[in-house]
Amino acid sequence: MAEGATPLWRWAPDAGALADAATAATAGGAGGKVEAREDAGGGKGRGLFWAGLAALPAGALAFRERPLAAAQHVSNRAAAPCCPGCHRFVGGGERFLSACLGRGGEGTGDSLTATPPAAAGGSGSAPGGSFRVPRWKEAMAAGGWAPPAAGLRCRGGCGAEYCGVACEEAAWRGAHGLLCPGAGPAPAWDEALEAARAEEEGTAGPPQKRARPESSNAENGLGRQFWSAAFLAHAAATNDVFALAGLCVADVLSRARRRLAERPAEPAPGAAAADAALRWAWTPYGLGWKALWWECVPCPPESAEGGNGGEREFRAALRGLAGDSALLLRRALFDARFPALFDDEVLGSLVGMFELNNLDMVVSNPLARYFRYMESLREGVTGKEEAGGLAEGDLAAAAALEALIEDADTDCHCSGTAFFRAQSLMNHSCDPNCAARKGDADADDSAMLYALRPIQPGEELTISYIEERDEDGQLRPVEERRRLLRDYGFECGCPLCVKEAGAKIPVPGPTPGAP
Ligand SMILES: [Zn+2]
Ligand SMILES: [Zn+2]
Ligand SMILES: [Zn+2]
Repeated sequence: MAEGATPLWRWAPDAGALADAATAATAGGAGGKVEAREDAGGGKGRGLFWAGLAALPAGALAFRERPLAAAQHVSNRAAAPCCPGCHRFVGGGERFLSACLGRGGEGTGDSLTATPPAAAGGSGSAPGGSFRVPRWKEAMAAGGWAPPAAGLRCRGGCGAEYCGVACEEAAWRGAHGLLCPGAGPAPAWDEALEAARAEEEGTAGPPQKRARPESSNAENGLGRQFWSAAFLAHAAATNDVFALAGLCVADVLSRARRRLAERPAEPAPGAAAADAALRWAWTPYGLGWKALWWECVPCPPESAEGGNGGEREFRAALRGLAGDSALLLRRALFDARFPALFDDEVLGSLVGMFELNNLDMVVSNPLARYFRYMESLREGVTGKEEAGGLAEGDLAAAAALEALIEDADTDCHCSGTAFFRAQSLMNHSCDPNCAARKGDADADDSAMLYALRPIQPGEELTISYIEERDEDGQLRPVEERRRLLRDYGFECGCPLCVKEAGAKIPVPGPTPGAP
């Protein structure tokens, strides 16, 4: 990177990238289309618009979108066995039930062989803690799709289980191939960190000077897995968004390498070509609204109480944590051709992007669909004769299993963090015309955006970033909404806010922390 050039994380891609982001979204309505615009008006910056030929009816799907990057929360992995590539559930009813009830021997991935169905019986539970889940196949077939009964393990030996060849291959060619921790127990990340620090200090010059070209020898290959494992262990112990941000860095790296291999002399051989390849690979991430994580995270009240010093300390601690994470990632991935990618601020800005865009990834557990199916059978049964035909025992067993799950009270749906390019372009409104919703039948990690009321061609698509209504469905007063929105760093100028604030509430001064 040339001296004085814009740092990678602050570099804004051109309008073409913006158009690409909109094409990431598959419009739902017939003849529908969504369009990204650089200026949504009203000082809001970019926005997403409905560009269909006809109005989108209320309740219709505006668009669906696969995430650019997504990761399941570490804490959720044992309860919800999902493909790391697309977050479809992998396995059958017995396995999901065991996982949900925490009887699967979590974490290692070795528990993943489905327990054999026990002998038929009414209780639903069998000796040895395994379960019989009657009519599973039937229920899945009725729902239009079924999760793959068994997955495919990562070739790197880390135990990750994919839904099939396509996801495993894509992950191996891309980010996971670079960040796969391999087999064996995770190294102690604190010791790894000590070693990495000592090494950086003991070497003359900045760490960037020490090249770690990929696959230069076998030792480096081993080293990469060790540092990847340490990086992931540190993330799991501190903030698992680091792991997701690390995957983004690895994704950019793998695409930059391929791009450079294809165009080694564009615009000129050497550093210029590498820099062009890196910026090209960064482009889709460049669109996300970013700030440095340690600067944009709201300071918790306990820390703020200590006055300015308390907040300073809090931010310094976050800065240190992010620095540690970046150091471990650098040891795992550093490539001397793309030094700009390994700056602490790149990782910090990606973590900040996930925080600021606040986009949850959810996939519903197929058990939910199963229980609904069994319930519909139960409700459909009227006469005693029919009940006998449908094996009353099965229905009772399913009801017992459902009660078991409810008692366990763990979240058995897949939950995580993701970055959706098109959705992240949507502006906030306290009276939004769209909402993200996932149903039992949505099998993967796509975001689904539905129209809340009819949307005319050319109208901006908006969502609410906050819970703008209370439990009773009453709109919260404008000052409360503004307080909830403060972390996003802007003051809402939606028609409701303008009207309410203008009518009865004096407009408060500039929001603290807002630009
Ligand atoms: Zn998959
Ligand atoms: Zn792996
Ligand atoms: Zn508003």
